[in-house]
Amino acid sequence: MKYVIIEKSILARIAAFILRGKSVAIVFGKRISLSGVSKEDFLKDSRWLKHELVHIKQYERYGFFRFIFLYLIESIRKGYYNNKFEAEARREAEK
Ligand SMILES: [Zn+2]
Repeated sequence: MKYVIIEKSILARIAAFILRGKSVAIVFGKRISLSGVSKEDFLKDSRWLKHELVHIKQYERYGFFRFIFLYLIESIRKGYYNNKFEAEARREAEK
């Protein structure tokens, strides 16, 4: 799968602040934006990488704007953790 990794992303830093996390990865299309973690350490964590690759697949499945829209709706309704897109990514990363 094709993807691009962006380190020290401002968007990821904002997400880290909202989620109260230190190390955060956030996906936009095929771009994985990182904050608080180097590209090297991120790639070493195969479960984490797998999780983010599931989000890339979700973008492919729904389309860029539609996925962002559906993801936000899910997050508002169910919160971050119970969001079905996060649940799928967690499930697939365990495999
Ligand atoms: Zn996720």
